[in-house]
Amino acid sequence: MTITPLMPVYPRCDVRPVKGEGCYLIGENGERYLDFASGIAVNLLGHNHPHLTKAIQEQAATLMHVSNMYGSPQGERLAQRLVDSTFADTVFFTNSGAEAVECAIKTARAYHQHDDGDAKKRVLITFKNAFHGRTMATISASNQEKMHHGFQPLLEGFRYVEFDDLEAAAAAVGPDTAGFLVEPIQGEGGIRPASSEFLQGLRKLCDDNDMMLVFDEVQCGVARSGHLYAYEHYGVEPDIMASAKGLGGGFPVGACLATEKAARGMGFGSHGSTYGGGPLAMAAGEAVLDVVNNEEFLEGVRNTGERLTAALNQLIPNHDTLFDHVRGVGLMLGLKMKVESRPFVAHLRDHHGLLAVAAGDNVVRLLPPLIIEQSHIDECIEKLSAGARSYQAQLEAAE
Ligand SMILES: *Cc1c(COP(=O)(O)O)cnc(C)c1O
Repeated sequence: MTITPLMPVYPRCDVRPVKGEGCYLIGENGERYLDFASGIAVNLLGHNHPHLTKAIQEQAATLMHVSNMYGSPQGERLAQRLVDSTFADTVFFTNSGAEAVECAIKTARAYHQHDDGDAKKRVLITFKNAFHGRTMATISASNQEKMHHGFQPLLEGFRYVEFDDLEAAAAAVGPDTAGFLVEPIQGEGGIRPASSEFLQGLRKLCDDNDMMLVFDEVQCGVARSGHLYAYEHYGVEPDIMASAKGLGGGFPVGACLATEKAARGMGFGSHGSTYGGGPLAMAAGEAVLDVVNNEEFLEGVRNTGERLTAALNQLIPNHDTLFDHVRGVGLMLGLKMKVESRPFVAHLRDHHGLLAVAAGDNVVRLLPPLIIEQSHIDECIEKLSAGARSYQAQLEAAE
């Protein structure tokens, strides 16, 4: 037998973390890494944050899981807090981002397949290089063929158009169109923030044609943009929104949020999840909101994001054969490279103890915990600078 006990779907690197300490990960042999990946935008309070850890410990000792057959005081509390803080009137809790997007897709379809709807409207327009997860529906919602390979047939009901191209989006709308599914800031696709005009234009198309505007904020949501959700940055409200990643700060929590109107098709028995919205997950979600859902914290994220961006902008001219520009919002930043980003991310990790994430379009994604301080920014810049120097030398030696 040659297959590994862990199904070999991830090309795992040599970092083998066994412990976390704030903004650092510690490997099996005591190696320390500055963690600007945060489990891919998950650990927004860093590792073992006392408030989050305590909430999970106490809830685990009190009540871990009950069926969704029973009333859920814990779920009602977190749902109410999300409703109070967002465009939404109602929330369905899931265990992952893909499930939150699945629920969003079902909610958008059910809106049109409701008695008052137009059941012909079944197609969601989605955008090139989007990432919505790895379930059948969510890979079908993305045009990225590398995720489709081996998994045919895909699900019907998705039409792909160019991201941030309002004309193309408008031209793709027809009598069969249920709405748009879009990441306001593409994550895996390379930290590409949509323009305000684009999102405003999609909003208007939806209003004019009775379609659903669905935002996938699984990566950009939960304070990462310096707003609780990135749609606030744009001043454009969706009808339905998927959230996850940061929502549990490391504990699996996802959510599909919707307005009352958008959720009209989601009645008793229409959807469900055994684990979704369990007490332990709700305790984690509440603990995260306790910390991040206030203007002082959000302003801090915007401010830290500006300082990190400024520091990166200062660094770029010193390494202008490698680095092109920095883009993003809040602490969801992308360093666009002039060379392939993936091997450079590996170099930073293996030789400089800095964890970042490669993304599409040759971007180095910097997704630090939202609690970083100036010392972490300085350390990141030092490591990037040293990393760029040694990487450049390595490239030249190879020539
Ligand atoms: C990560 C991600 C998902 C999928 O989340 P999982 O928890 O891995 O299922 C969906 N959409 C976006 C934008 C993401 O970044």
